[in-house]
Amino acid sequence: MRLLDASGIRKVFDLAGSLDDPINLSIGQPDFDVPDQIKDAAIDAIRRGLNRYTPTQGMVELRDRISAGCAEEFGWGDEKGYLVTSGVSGALLLAILTLVNPGDEVIFTDPYFVMYSHLVNLSGGVPVPVDTYPNFRPDPQKIADAVTDRTRMVIINSPCNPTGAVYTAGELRDIAQVASKRDLLIVSDEIYNLFCYDEPFVSMASIYENTLLMRGFSKSYAMTGWRMGFCVGPKSIIEKMTMLQQYTFVCAPSMAQAASISAMDAEVSDHVSDYRRKRDMVFDALEEAFGLIKPCGAFYAFVPAPGGNATAFVEKAIANNVLIIPGNVFSGRDTHFRISYAASDEKLRQGLDILKSLA
Ligand code: PLP
Repeated sequence: MRLLDASGIRKVFDLAGSLDDPINLSIGQPDFDVPDQIKDAAIDAIRRGLNRYTPTQGMVELRDRISAGCAEEFGWGDEKGYLVTSGVSGALLLAILTLVNPGDEVIFTDPYFVMYSHLVNLSGGVPVPVDTYPNFRPDPQKIADAVTDRTRMVIINSPCNPTGAVYTAGELRDIAQVASKRDLLIVSDEIYNLFCYDEPFVSMASIYENTLLMRGFSKSYAMTGWRMGFCVGPKSIIEKMTMLQQYTFVCAPSMAQAASISAMDAEVSDHVSDYRRKRDMVFDALEEAFGLIKPCGAFYAFVPAPGGNATAFVEKAIANNVLIIPGNVFSGRDTHFRISYAASDEKLRQGLDILKSLA
């Protein structure tokens, strides 16, 4: 626990608390609401009495939908294990506690989703971040150089939080080739898979057999508070994760599971188009003034801070009523800041104007 630290992000939220009506570009969740059909399905589930524990591995109907989806997308069947989790966070916690022994190393690209390093530390493992600056493309040679006898897994996250990078099929194949030399497990965090703006999304699971796939409902359907996700992969691993879920989360929330079945039929392409347009707004506004590299997915841009000091720039932005997050929250470096464009056009425009004037 001593290695865990939430001070960077807390500082932003504390400063935010002191502002009356901030332009908040720090939030990691969609600004649209849960589609009505999903809300109705949850209400209906509660009324029908689906308020009790479900099987630890998830409701049969939902797991059937997930496995049908995986059969269609990857040709997977019963040889894989399927587990419904409390968000992708739940899947990450279970996977890391299940697999990482003290001293084991876990490779992931830097900048990274904060939880990776903290969960690896929690399990007694060693986080091994691999630098992807300045363009946030994964370098297979750097990943290969980071592999040691203690490497337990490689986590990849495309589309990426915080950079918005989306890995190409070629890049995924290169990473898979490095992993395959030692048959290393790849954990593929695909929580932003629907938010790809320029090219179709490619999953590591379609390329590399030894993949533990994680997907969620939080971002795709704006269900962040419902705590729903799932994990599919090697049966032996999923079985152990299921056992650990039995003694921790017990199961994902029952009504949210029932509603997630209906979420899988929900259409969110209008929202994705909307975020593509907002991504363009951000890129057009910040490319020249900041030297921003175009983000292709999720709903974040990771922007070089003027003078290379993100914390100083973020403090200045907050003093001017704009909330953004310094890069050191997501990285060993503090040279960039994260902006989330999951905000109204009006707020986003105001925020971009202020950031530009500060630059
Ligand atoms: N993975 C990434 C890359 C994320 O950005 C997030 C949330 O911000 C999560 C996982 C966790 O999402 P949840 O637990 O809501 O499914």
